[in-house]
Amino acid sequence: MTTTVTSVELFPLRIPRDVPYLGPLEEGNRPNEKGYIVRPGNRTVYPVFDQTLLVRAEASDGTVGWGESFGVVAPQVAESILEELLIPFVVGRSPHDVERIYEDLYDLQRVRGHFGGYALDAIAGLDMALWDLRGKLLGQPVWQLLGGLRQARLPVYVSGLPGETKEERAALGKAWMDRGFSALKFAAAVADEGEVAEIGAIRAEVGPAPKILADLHWRYTALEAIQLIERLCEFDLHLAEAPVAPEDVDGQARVARAVKTRIGLGEEWRTVHEYLPRLRAGCMDVIQPEMAHTGITGFRRICELAQAFHCKVMPHATINIGIVQAASLQASATLANVEMHEYQHSIFDRNKQFLRSGMDCQAGYFSLPEGPGLGAEPTEEALKLAIGRG
Ligand code: MG
Repeated sequence: MTTTVTSVELFPLRIPRDVPYLGPLEEGNRPNEKGYIVRPGNRTVYPVFDQTLLVRAEASDGTVGWGESFGVVAPQVAESILEELLIPFVVGRSPHDVERIYEDLYDLQRVRGHFGGYALDAIAGLDMALWDLRGKLLGQPVWQLLGGLRQARLPVYVSGLPGETKEERAALGKAWMDRGFSALKFAAAVADEGEVAEIGAIRAEVGPAPKILADLHWRYTALEAIQLIERLCEFDLHLAEAPVAPEDVDGQARVARAVKTRIGLGEEWRTVHEYLPRLRAGCMDVIQPEMAHTGITGFRRICELAQAFHCKVMPHATINIGIVQAASLQASATLANVEMHEYQHSIFDRNKQFLRSGMDCQAGYFSLPEGPGLGAEPTEEALKLAIGRG
């Protein structure tokens, strides 16, 4: 008898934090009544806690698969799309049809223009849960289902240095390099003395060897970005991420043509359709897909498309409890063009207490989760953090 999906349950989680993501709040910056702030450095909304959306799919033989959707802000939106619309189209189907299901769910709303954003975040979590279920039913890790392992551990870059001054942030960078890491990324949105002063302080502290990446947070016009990146290159900048507005395809291409270091783009895009025009236009050297937006099915398709353009991959790591991280490592470990994975230490190290997984990040490398499926499941404690159910 064919094993089918019998139920899908959702858990929007809220995890308190002492210090908000990206570091202490700027003077006068206070959360609104829902707990959200706007970072003046990039005009983007962030919660003062961590949020995510877990997806639990159960099969007819009792096997359970876990996924995680992008839920940094308003995880209730993807929850509602899943609950009201998508889940009934998945119940009764075989988890082995996961790629077909991904395509069917995408098709449901494409002519209404819902081929990105929250609609795809909802599909992503469900897709991960079905891959996990499929692996567990077959007794194989997801990397095996994806065609075989290329890297048993993945090199990482340390992402974010949450200190109040550039000196503090540079010292944090040095402390990470002393622990065996060899690459780090700083965030323009909190570089209060500017990116050039920031990279200068970091380079002076870490010395010539470590790779330094800069997340420019979509802040600049193409010309401004070109001028800035030229100055950052004096400190041997390894990669400039997101220099111009996400919609500015011409600007992205202009920057990539003009500068003498790598341009990384893509954490905000969800499908091959968003990547293809940028790949064609030569907008970037490195893509940074985010598993919580793409699911495993979308992630693989995006990375393989990039491979055809000889483009490298440095997967993005958003706020999550680690199911997303496990899925991203499982998929990344099978791909030919993955150079480094982002390591969000201020999130991963704190939230891994809510996860059962062999996954860890030490001395410059992520170890893969172990066991069948994704190899990562939330603890009972994690589920107690569900919004409105505590
Ligand atoms: Mg970024």
